[in-house]
Amino acid sequence: MEEKQEKRRLVLVPVPAQGHISPMMQLAKTLHLKGFSITVVQTKFNHFIPSDDFTDFQFVTIPESLPESDFNHLGPTGFLLKLNKECQVSFKDCLGQLLLPKSDEISCVIYDEFMYFAEAAATEFNLPHVIFSTTSAAAFKCRSVFEKLYANNGPKELQEELVPEFYPLRYKDFPVSRSASLESIMEFYRNTVDQRTASSVIINTASCLESSSLSFLQQQQQQLKIPLYPIGPLHMVASVPTSLLEENNTCIEWLNKHKVNSVIYISMGSLALMEINEVMETASGLAASNQQFLWVIRPGSIRGSEWTESLPQEFSKMVSDRGYILKWAPQMKVLAHPAIGGFWSHCGWNSTLESLGEGVPMICRPFSGDQKANARYLECVWKIGIQVEGELDKGLVERAVKRLMVEEEGEEMRKRAVSLKEQIRASVKSEGSSHNSLEEFVHFMRTL
Ligand code: UDP
Repeated sequence: MEEKQEKRRLVLVPVPAQGHISPMMQLAKTLHLKGFSITVVQTKFNHFIPSDDFTDFQFVTIPESLPESDFNHLGPTGFLLKLNKECQVSFKDCLGQLLLPKSDEISCVIYDEFMYFAEAAATEFNLPHVIFSTTSAAAFKCRSVFEKLYANNGPKELQEELVPEFYPLRYKDFPVSRSASLESIMEFYRNTVDQRTASSVIINTASCLESSSLSFLQQQQQQLKIPLYPIGPLHMVASVPTSLLEENNTCIEWLNKHKVNSVIYISMGSLALMEINEVMETASGLAASNQQFLWVIRPGSIRGSEWTESLPQEFSKMVSDRGYILKWAPQMKVLAHPAIGGFWSHCGWNSTLESLGEGVPMICRPFSGDQKANARYLECVWKIGIQVEGELDKGLVERAVKRLMVEEEGEEMRKRAVSLKEQIRASVKSEGSSHNSLEEFVHFMRTL
């Protein structure tokens, strides 16, 4: 097919959450560098404030009437179902405005798979559209079979068993949110996996990480006649600031004072909530492990507390000797720091990719959604993670931290993590699999 030479405008629609905004903005930057003009359509809720790295980009806000508290009340699935209903009309109006004659010609709408409301408007205006999956290929695969597998209320008695053809996932590792009913999860997944009218699907992963899930999906996509492009990890393709919260860089000076691989970094991402007793058990386990730690406690992330003020007084004593606590870290810089020898994480897909990209092994403490599947891959497939399951107590924390930071087992994981890092880096370099996939995708976009 012939490539069209003029600069074409792409409309990008991110989910208003840190873990989705970051890869979408990395994609935006990548495609801008390839010569496309970019418009980002975002909601009022949790919108991204662009830095100077995005001066040439157009940002448009669409109204929606969701109060911030809805997110905590409804949980992620309920919130996204409501958000999709709320945005349908305003996005159509917005796209109509963007298509007025004075605007550049729009060649495609690229939307996060969870913002499926964009599909109806794009189809109505006869615009090609592309689905962007910001989670792993394994999670994508789970969603695509979810309804069949969980019909008739789900095989609850099989929770501990491996799902046939889904190694290493057990039934309990499927992305089922604890806060949502099975009906609403099914409704949500039905909408997200419906790709009938999409021109293609892009996914933020690399084939060296997920070859078997990707070949399953590629076969499925072949039947649908919709190409699938694995183009990640995008944070290694376009490095741009994407944080919604202010990063505290003082921790880098603190890290500079520490020896190589001597500090464990702890962060549960942008959404997970911990109970006070879990925080206390973590603190006492860390103290007992005698390891140095850098711990992100995000404001609002401890239930019933604005920050750390509701924690008992012993908390400060336990963390003051060997720890550095902060509200939000420059995570990529932290993971790249030589002093970091391990990452205690909730295993969000971005945190997982960022740790893999720096060769840092992990302790996995997934909370919900796709995090459980990511943790299983880290432990059983890539073998660079230790999963901590069940009720958290001091002994479990101490044991896991020592295994990763002190013992031979952790050292072996660190070696595997470094070798995987090299493979991932190679995949985004010239002639690497993600690099080639991106080139094919860009070529495809130029033909639209
Ligand atoms: N993050 C950060 N500073 C922090 C904690 C997290 O910049 O102190 C970033 C992290 O680098 C990642 C994102 O927040 O890119 C979290 O996304 P992830 O998919 O890991 O988890 P989610 O927040 O969606 O649960």
